[in-house]
Amino acid sequence: MIQAKARAVNEPTGKFQTMTLERRDVGANDVLIEIKFAGICHSDIHTGRGEWRDIEYPFVPGHEIVGVVSEVGSDVTKHKVGDRVGVGCLVNSCGTCEQCKAGFENNCVNGSVGTYASHDKYLDNSLTQGGYSSHVVVKEDFVLRIPDGLELDKAAPLLCAGITTYSPLRHWEAGPGKQVAVVGMGGLGHMAVKLAHAMGAEVTVLSHSDKKREDAAKFGADHYYNTSDESVFKELAGKFELIINTVSANLDFDKYLSLVKPQGTMANVGAPAEPISVNIFSLLGGRKSLSGSNIGGIPETQEMLDFCAEHDVTPEIEKIAADELDEAWDRVVNSDVRYRFVIDNSTL
Ligand code: NAP
Ligand code: ZN
Repeated sequence: MIQAKARAVNEPTGKFQTMTLERRDVGANDVLIEIKFAGICHSDIHTGRGEWRDIEYPFVPGHEIVGVVSEVGSDVTKHKVGDRVGVGCLVNSCGTCEQCKAGFENNCVNGSVGTYASHDKYLDNSLTQGGYSSHVVVKEDFVLRIPDGLELDKAAPLLCAGITTYSPLRHWEAGPGKQVAVVGMGGLGHMAVKLAHAMGAEVTVLSHSDKKREDAAKFGADHYYNTSDESVFKELAGKFELIINTVSANLDFDKYLSLVKPQGTMANVGAPAEPISVNIFSLLGGRKSLSGSNIGGIPETQEMLDFCAEHDVTPEIEKIAADELDEAWDRVVNSDVRYRFVIDNSTL
């Protein structure tokens, strides 16, 4: 076993505590990564606080992991010692179903294995623990290459916030001539703005305050609206081919669907705990789609990293030490992060 330093919460309302994690020995197909940085995703908080489901504690969050390979198993061919690598939200899947074979491990019909709070049923059924830790052992197929052009700290948020927004933007063909709205400009939302802009779409930010107006313009947004002003919904009615909703709380979906152009889509990546409510007539008129998207598969995650390096698309980050984790989680919940916290794992 490999001993790793980590920060964990021990109950839904708990504060972070230091702990020692046992990582499995490096198997033939495994890569040992010395973690340099880990991003803080709102999903870490939903999970750690038991908002989505009951989980097992201690819980070590973190699925935006970047670091350097320090050991590889005997059969590993894709990575070598010293390589700069990343791990996102997935660490295993069945590998045999139609979805896995097509590169959509995120949609594995037999169930993919999350980087944290999952049991790896394809391996030893052990509980997975995330990247707020010094080391992790991961099957080589789930380890991404960080392109030379990307700084490691800024690459971290791409492993979740980046791919979660890149994938629906690609799927629904954001690009020149397309009107794309991004609802909520937090960690995911600000990446959606930068990516949609880099893809050539006309980008509108729908934010619930005025506070982020100047930042949105810097990130490439063409328009910005404060949705607390009800007149916005009249002005923008039927405007967007694609709305990407990144909001962590529930919304009035009928209001946002009224902004979708006929035949258009509102794609949800935000994941509030409570069920949503929609009037079916909001979808019937104009044959509109209300859809969802969950991170992305491994090939598309690599494609996104390469795209970001090529187009110089990187997140805005605020680097923190491990002792600042409790405060950082509270600030994320209060929409008070500009725009992603990244932990310097040397401070664990
Ligand atoms: P975040 O940084 O907290 O951003 C969420 C944004 O939503 C905030 O910045 C804020 O934007 C807006 N917002 C928050 N509370 C609101 C409220 N009460 N009313 C209206 N708007 C509100 O979170 P994140 O890390 O980007 O994650 C966003 C959501 O996506 C979370 O639910 C997370 O679990 C989920 N997620 C899903 C996937 C997936 O695969 N589908 C992957 C990662 C994360 P404004 O200030 O601009 O309004
Ligand atoms: Zn995430």
